[in-house]
Amino acid sequence: MASYTPMIEQYQNIKNQHPDEILFFRLGDFYEMFFEDAEVASRELEITLTGREAGQNTRVPMCGIPYHAVDNYLAKLIGKGYKVAICEQVEDPKSAKGIVRREVIKIVTPGTILSESCLPDKANNFLAVLYENEKNFVLAAADASTGECLWSSFNGWDRFNALADQLIRLTPAEIVLTGSCINNQAVQDELNGRLSYCTYTKLAVNDLQAIQCLPGQHFAAADLPQDPDSLLAVGYLLYYLHQTVKNDLSNINRLVEYSAVNHLLVDAASLRNLEVIRNTRDGSRKDTLLSVLDFTKTAMGSRLLKRWLEYPLLQPAKIIQRQDAVAALLDQATVRYTIQTALKNIYDFERIMTRIEVGTANGRDMIALKSSLTVLPAIKQQLTQINNALLNQIDNGIDRHDSLVELIESAIVDNPPFSVREGNIIKSGYHNELDELRHIATDSKQWVQNLETSERERTGIKSLKVGYNKVFGYYLEVTHSHAASVPSTYVRKQTLANAERYITPELKAFEGKILGAQEKIVNIEYELFCKIRDSIKEHMKEIQKTARHIAQLDCILGLSEAASQYNYVRPRIRTNRRISIKDGRHPVVERLLVREMFVPNDVELNHQDNEIMVITGPNMAGKSTYMRQVALLVLMAQVGSFIPAREAAISPVDRIFTRVGASDDLATGQSTFMVEMNEVAHILKHATKNSLIILDEIGRGTSTFDGMSIAQAVIEHIYEHIGAKTLFATHYHELTELAETNSRVKNFSVAVKERGNEVVFLRRIVPGGADKSYGIYVAQLAGLPKKTVERAKAILLQLEKNHSIPAKVTEAAATTSSGSMSLFTNAIIEELLSLDVMTITPIEAINLLYKLQTQAKEEVGQ
Ligand code: ATP
Repeated sequence: MASYTPMIEQYQNIKNQHPDEILFFRLGDFYEMFFEDAEVASRELEITLTGREAGQNTRVPMCGIPYHAVDNYLAKLIGKGYKVAICEQVEDPKSAKGIVRREVIKIVTPGTILSESCLPDKANNFLAVLYENEKNFVLAAADASTGECLWSSFNGWDRFNALADQLIRLTPAEIVLTGSCINNQAVQDELNGRLSYCTYTKLAVNDLQAIQCLPGQHFAAADLPQDPDSLLAVGYLLYYLHQTVKNDLSNINRLVEYSAVNHLLVDAASLRNLEVIRNTRDGSRKDTLLSVLDFTKTAMGSRLLKRWLEYPLLQPAKIIQRQDAVAALLDQATVRYTIQTALKNIYDFERIMTRIEVGTANGRDMIALKSSLTVLPAIKQQLTQINNALLNQIDNGIDRHDSLVELIESAIVDNPPFSVREGNIIKSGYHNELDELRHIATDSKQWVQNLETSERERTGIKSLKVGYNKVFGYYLEVTHSHAASVPSTYVRKQTLANAERYITPELKAFEGKILGAQEKIVNIEYELFCKIRDSIKEHMKEIQKTARHIAQLDCILGLSEAASQYNYVRPRIRTNRRISIKDGRHPVVERLLVREMFVPNDVELNHQDNEIMVITGPNMAGKSTYMRQVALLVLMAQVGSFIPAREAAISPVDRIFTRVGASDDLATGQSTFMVEMNEVAHILKHATKNSLIILDEIGRGTSTFDGMSIAQAVIEHIYEHIGAKTLFATHYHELTELAETNSRVKNFSVAVKERGNEVVFLRRIVPGGADKSYGIYVAQLAGLPKKTVERAKAILLQLEKNHSIPAKVTEAAATTSSGSMSLFTNAIIEELLSLDVMTITPIEAINLLYKLQTQAKEEVGQ
């Protein structure tokens, strides 16, 4: 075995305790990596791999990064899913006996990173812990950078899907698996499929008692989960945070339960389909509901608005309370403007408080905090002018923090440097001893000047200079040409190419005094800074409370601003299970249309005569836009927002489901049709009579008859067994017959006008079904070659002639054998018509015959 130097041995001992992390090992001004870590880091960070003598004839791989640039490199490694253990020198090298003691002071992982340059701007960075036992899953999550902490528990047969939905909403950077999750490969595979961007960590802890008592140390007893499993999950979360951040984490002091009982549930697929937070094109927030409604001015407000849209409200009283606040500000343009202007000065002080907590806040953070707190009185003053319960509550939740503003104002200079260890942070007049020392330091500059002048006079050497450098301290410098004039009291210290440097006893004594003073200044400034930081830390909870209320105010103000700018109205919130919207508009599409005006449309959904809307109409007519619009307006209403409409009365729904568009789920190996059917199955299993369901052309991904049968059966199921308000767009015009026999089903279509060969889309939803799709016309608009369009028209004509689809075919197909036979016959006709006999090879023809014969045998039961 190779024998290594003591330093490498020390490295190895520490590395053995951190096998899963890349170890940044502090050596002077660098973090060095060795062995395999060095190879990985040099490759990932694109830095040179070198080597280091590690013992007799032994060289080990090494690479390093300068300590002051650590954040950039950390960001890269964390972004690639690595974890990094930061190992520092924990004693002064000057006083160390033998090798300097080193310890890992923190572990940085994607879910626990705190450095500003690595965190997403304005958005949360969640760490999620999953706990599983036989009956339930518990999810506990925290954003260590803001102090937010929440938990949810999921039981019942579909608990995994509910958990996955919640996780997708949180989009955690890291998921920690605990309990029986650690060995549950199926759960891990599913999670990997749905949340592939996450870093996964397994955490097994033997000392469960230590874990169970952690929640009580952070949160009020009333906030703690009652059931032991949830408590354990929260404990695991805190344990992992302590293990990595290695701090007492007093900023994590508020625990909130997220349960389905209090919120309108919009599952992850529906949030995606409706483009609430992210668009389906590139996953960014461009052209989403969030982007339209986000008039927030602070990072805290922006994070909260996203949460509001992901978790709309359910109880009418709570919705009305928010609406009242939005309305109160809508009438007050000046108040709105004044508060918004003040909010622009508010920094992300939830994150500043975290940096104060973990000791990384610098002078600039203090100034940012001061400027944030300074505007609070003006905001409060504006709020007192408004008579509204929620806004008054918010006003009460915002503290003025006068004493802290005064403290920072009196102590910290207006433009402090980045570093807190190099002085120039504390204002003069704040601390007597510091002022005196600074006097000495300033006087000393004059003293040096005086010495230079008097020595020049005394020696007659005009070019004599007094200088300073770190290695030799203060010196008198004389060029060689004047060497003869140097007095005998000068003691030679250093020879340069063209000059000689000297010291005198007088200069040496001065040096002792001044260097002592400067060192003391830096130390005192640092101590004072830490004291100020600690006294701010004592106000952690009140400042966090202020931050939460500022976030709420920012969101409400933003919703008023959106309502004012975009001409939204306040929907009346009802409990009669009806939804009526007059002249509703799609909040995002109406903003995107440049040349066209958005055509508003009504909707009436109730459980007497308009429960299921079957919407037919040409391609490109606006069916999808209309249906999404209805879902979005209901969602907005339940957020407490005003909505784009002329007037509306809305009864809150418990869940919104959408099945829109087609996409393969390559990650879980599912085809487009399979994904579609999974989503439909999910809807049928979970929807209740209080839900809103949007189904856009289900059954399209398979053969016409299969698709049509499925579509009809799904409507029937919803009608008979669920009774949910449903919008159903389809190109199967046969489905309009359902309205004839089912009183709560109504047909609608999107109006078009034919003008010669042209079709004009009127974008108006009107009662009654459509009988044409104008698909070929749209294909022509899209630029399909003329010949192909002509050929399609000819085929269509022929199909319409030969292929009279029985009106009730699907119903018959589902119930009778003769129906099944006609379905089969139709399938054969379809197959034969699509055949190009002139190009088919003999072997393909035989295969086809064989297939048809097999199907025929199955059909007659042979
Ligand atoms: P397909 O059946 O082909 O999926 P569709 O009927 O679902 O079509 P949409 O995708 O909803 O049609 O709408 C097509 C385009 O029409 C939209 O992208 C939008 O630009 C425009 N549009 C839709 N509704 C309106 C409206 N009410 N006012 C103005 N333009 C609209």
